[in-house]
Amino acid sequence: LLPEPPEARVTRDADCLFCKIAGGEIPADVVRENERTLAFRDISPQAPTHVLVVPRDHHRDVASLAAAEPDTLAELVRTAADVAADEGIDAYRLVFNTGEQAGQSVFHVHVHVLGGRAMTWPPG
Ligand code: ADP
Repeated sequence: LLPEPPEARVTRDADCLFCKIAGGEIPADVVRENERTLAFRDISPQAPTHVLVVPRDHHRDVASLAAAEPDTLAELVRTAADVAADEGIDAYRLVFNTGEQAGQSVFHVHVHVLGGRAMTWPPG
């Protein structure tokens, strides 16, 4: 038998909020979608533009996605840039909170696209 891969690829997690949004079970304000990714407005916006871009497949964080499906990670970033262009903003911040202490609360990888106001540094 082959050993289990470090992270078996799970395409769908029954308890995952963003899997449910990607599957259409929970409504969201979708701004872009394609075969592999979905972009929707954050329910609690922290900037005039605050959109989340997720892969349809379930991966817990950006490192897991990078290891399992690097092309999909690149597509997340391309989609984020397309969202910014749709919103008419040429400056934006992309954030992947990774791990609880970094502020990740939904363990289905998502990139925050934040823009439409001046951003401060460092982030809190
Ligand atoms: P945090 O909650 O600390 O921002 P994450 O980086 O994991 O942690 O981001 C999860 C994001 O998902 C939050 O910005 C939250 O507002 C957003 N969110 C939670 N539920 C929904 C929902 N049903 N539709 C859209 N966005 C949601």
